[in-house]
Amino acid sequence: MTPPPKNHLWRPYTQMKTAAPPLAAVRTDGARIVLADGRELVDGIASWWTAAHGYNHPHIRAAVAAQLEAMPHVMFGGLTHAPAEALAARLAALLPGDLDHVFFSDSGSVAVEVALKMALQLWLNRGVAGRTRFLAFRGGYHGDTLGAMSVCDPEEGMHRRFGAALPTQVFCDLPTSPDRVAALDACLAEQAKTLAAVIVEPLVQGAGGMRMHPPAVLATVARLAKAHGLPLIVDEIFTGFGRTGTLFACEQAGIVPDILCLSKALTGGTMALAATVATGAVFASFLSDDPAAALMHGPTFMANPLACAAANASLDLFETEPRLAQAQAIGERLAAGLEPLRGRPGVADIRVLGAIGVVHWETVPNLAAVKSRFLERGVWVRPFGDIVYLTPALTITEPDLDRLIAAVVAVVTEVTRR
Ligand SMILES: *Cc1c(COP(=O)(O)O)cnc(C)c1O
Repeated sequence: MTPPPKNHLWRPYTQMKTAAPPLAAVRTDGARIVLADGRELVDGIASWWTAAHGYNHPHIRAAVAAQLEAMPHVMFGGLTHAPAEALAARLAALLPGDLDHVFFSDSGSVAVEVALKMALQLWLNRGVAGRTRFLAFRGGYHGDTLGAMSVCDPEEGMHRRFGAALPTQVFCDLPTSPDRVAALDACLAEQAKTLAAVIVEPLVQGAGGMRMHPPAVLATVARLAKAHGLPLIVDEIFTGFGRTGTLFACEQAGIVPDILCLSKALTGGTMALAATVATGAVFASFLSDDPAAALMHGPTFMANPLACAAANASLDLFETEPRLAQAQAIGERLAAGLEPLRGRPGVADIRVLGAIGVVHWETVPNLAAVKSRFLERGVWVRPFGDIVYLTPALTITEPDLDRLIAAVVAVVTEVTRR
């Protein structure tokens, strides 16, 4: 095969003038990425947190291959199919409470857009006007499309330049102290009549900087939303499917949101798929003799059968293999391995939750230089902002995990030496 043309791709989050050229990947297997030049990298990120079972899992590949023979895709308007029916039923059974109504889409951002739209339309369907805004939390990240951008952190987030073009939402700090609980309560009391919903990432704000909060904080968010009569949207796109040590992060707080978003690891990293899941009460608000009360959304590739087959196979693996125990074991190893960095000059914090390990720098180092040091050590680790983190496949072997941890310890030590 001829090498790919160099100048036609516009790359994600990339300054195309100055960025180092991307590495050509030709193969993946388990927790490894093989490059065109023959190098093999241990993956510390599981491809943006998607490849929970490692790459190329034979069970998922077989399920997708079988579905490819039968029916790669069919439109979802007026038609249905077994992979989607089974997946929706399985998600409903796994999710807490009566989160029973599953709306499929093809990316996390769109799952968030659908959740926001559901919340807006639910008030309209109940005949309540004026509830057009959302309460979101500082430090949050919910996606890259316009509606999702509007609920991302407005000051520190990657979308701050778009502020003027976005709907203005209400931002609060997570209620991590008595003062902040009171502030959130007061803000909700003042704004409740203009708000359609509260949106939160449970237990860890991922792309906003891997900031973690205890389950009690999430429980407080849920309690206050309910006290002010507001639906709660929980964005489990990063946290879902074992990443925080439980299948879903909201389990740890014992809460049942009104709407919940899933994507990232939903198909085990194989295909693009997302889901917005609603409770019975939310769903009931859309039942009417008026056609205009229907949820007005419908992606062309909604419930793509290949993606649903991959997701069903991924759920099989969560049932038959000890993924949550693996996540916990990874967490213990990350905590022990990263601990020596705690208190080092230049290191602000070390934090671990489930299979997420984070080193937080005091000042942002030269990230391009840091990235190349990781490559020299044969690992795929992508620091951003003031953090470097590990979120490996839950199936990663101990030697590979140790290699990732050793690389982080070595690189952070080198970078903070001066
Ligand atoms: C990645 C992510 C999204 C956006 O998902 P995409 O598939 O990239 O659109 C939204 N919310 C959270 C919490 C995420 O981690």
